[in-house]
Amino acid sequence: MLEAQDLAFSYGDFPVFEHVNIEVNENGFVVIVGPSGAGKSTLLRVLGGFLRPTRGKVLLMGEEVTRPSPKIMMVHQAIVTFPWMTVLENVMMGAEARGLPKEAAREVALQMIEVVGLRGFEDFYPKQLSGGMRQRVAIARALAADPVVLLMDEPFAHLDELTAEALRRDVYDMLFNVNTSLKGVVMITHNLVEAVELADVVYVLNGRPATITAKVKVSLPRPRVPKDPAFIEYTDLLYDYIAGGAL
Ligand code: ADP
Repeated sequence: MLEAQDLAFSYGDFPVFEHVNIEVNENGFVVIVGPSGAGKSTLLRVLGGFLRPTRGKVLLMGEEVTRPSPKIMMVHQAIVTFPWMTVLENVMMGAEARGLPKEAAREVALQMIEVVGLRGFEDFYPKQLSGGMRQRVAIARALAADPVVLLMDEPFAHLDELTAEALRRDVYDMLFNVNTSLKGVVMITHNLVEAVELADVVYVLNGRPATITAKVKVSLPRPRVPKDPAFIEYTDLLYDYIAGGAL
């Protein structure tokens, strides 16, 4: 569905990563982990067509990604909502980004508000909502653009732990809800519990310049329980891969 083939990226003379191969299968949730500064955000921007790779290519359903498009939407770690717009107006922005007229955009927005669990809050302003609810608004807006792929850059980073936990619990079902046409997610995080909780496949990005040093398939049934010993085996394994790569 989404594929990165032998990707490399440099900021000028500074090589960030090289030989990166990533595959997102249909309905796949891919997580990229790695130490801070490894190049995760840069890689996500290359996957979305926001930065051009210095080598290799990104393919979305067989077609090369050369620029940003509504088919690939990004949700940032900073919770980006427009404070002067209501929840409904914020989400409608996403639907209007794909050229829908106002009435149709409103229908889609209401549907996505339902998907993210904010029904009843349509006329609230962001400042009247908690951080977790605002991040749900941002997710609804991204989904309203009807993307094929959603890229998430540490979407829980600025939430308190309880809020993050609640959103993490809901996000998988939200994204792969029957009412969305989303076919894949790539999320970056440095939180290994988060990675194991959500991923079908975890890629470890590490080293300098960074490469994919491990690919771990997480075969635990959902919903996943972080206290489960099998869960802990996965976080320990990822920890070893990351610590090992830093030596
Ligand atoms: P991560 O998301 O894993 O923390 P980043 O992708 O943000 O890593 O950064 C990877 C490396 O690239 C870091 O060494 C960072 O300092 C450098 N970097 C990030 N953005 C820029 C930029 N705009 N110009 C030059 N170097 C950058």
